[in-house]
Amino acid sequence: MREFELIDALRTCLAARRDDTRLGIGDDAGILAPLPHSELLVTTDTLIRDRHFPGDTSVFDIGYKAVAVNLSDIAAMGGAPAWLTVSLAAPALDRAWADAFVDGLQAACAAYPGPDPIDIVGGDTTRADQLMVTVTAIGHVPSGQAIRRSGARVGDLIAVTGTLGDAAAGLVRWPQREPGASETDPLIRRLVRPDLRDGRALIGRATAALDVSDGFLADLGHILTASNVGARLAVDDLPAAHALAAAAPDLTTFRRWQATGGDDYELCLTAPADQIGPLRDALDCALTVVGEITAEPGLTCLDRHGQCLTADVFSQAGWDHFA
Ligand SMILES: [Mg+2]
Repeated sequence: MREFELIDALRTCLAARRDDTRLGIGDDAGILAPLPHSELLVTTDTLIRDRHFPGDTSVFDIGYKAVAVNLSDIAAMGGAPAWLTVSLAAPALDRAWADAFVDGLQAACAAYPGPDPIDIVGGDTTRADQLMVTVTAIGHVPSGQAIRRSGARVGDLIAVTGTLGDAAAGLVRWPQREPGASETDPLIRRLVRPDLRDGRALIGRATAALDVSDGFLADLGHILTASNVGARLAVDDLPAAHALAAAAPDLTTFRRWQATGGDDYELCLTAPADQIGPLRDALDCALTVVGEITAEPGLTCLDRHGQCLTADVFSQAGWDHFA
């Protein structure tokens, strides 16, 4: 496939819809108009076949996920995503491939819960041995109000949106999945099409936040390190989908999926106790309190009986990060 065909597919499907997109795809560069009294958030993520997604992932789902993981980063900062650029490196492409890919990009943009459309304002294609997709997302946040990892304060509660561990269980189930599992199997669906959260709800309410991409314990560890605090975590309070409990062969696996499984792209946040209710009202998804920020450093994981859980309950990778 020649390069102009992907650009052409993008241009016909993705005409600019935002007032602040002065010029979308078609010239040497897009022209974007930042909002007054706002700052821009910029993030980029590369997905490589067989490393970040299974090699037999559908083209639609590759496009969907490449966008979703970037929108998740903008949401974690309290931002509203506005623009994307998409770069594709692939061994060989044809028009059907490009159309399915663009459909996936569009579906993820449409699934974003914010009120404004998201414009794809640039794209590039190169030939390469391995399929690689790089998406850059740009979003708005009110000046000085972006939610950072470093803002957690002693006494804040720790809360997480949605459910944890689904994508890790989906990855285990992946080789045995049924046809159409991206639509029908909730665990597979979470792996290939992460749920998208509206991060604007965090502004003025959360003190720190990030999206859960590497595993909940590892990612919470990032907040603790950046904020120079510790935490007490109620492991049995981590929110779980019914499908996860049904899929787990034992409690250890269940806990490992929840605490260390990656790719859930839920938001983990800290906030004063009196902000949890308003956050719950402002988010259009479940928000579950799972712990508290403490002055003593490190992470203490307790089960429902108040017993301290040791490292061997979790995978080494997730635990080591904050040890
Ligand atoms: Mg992130």
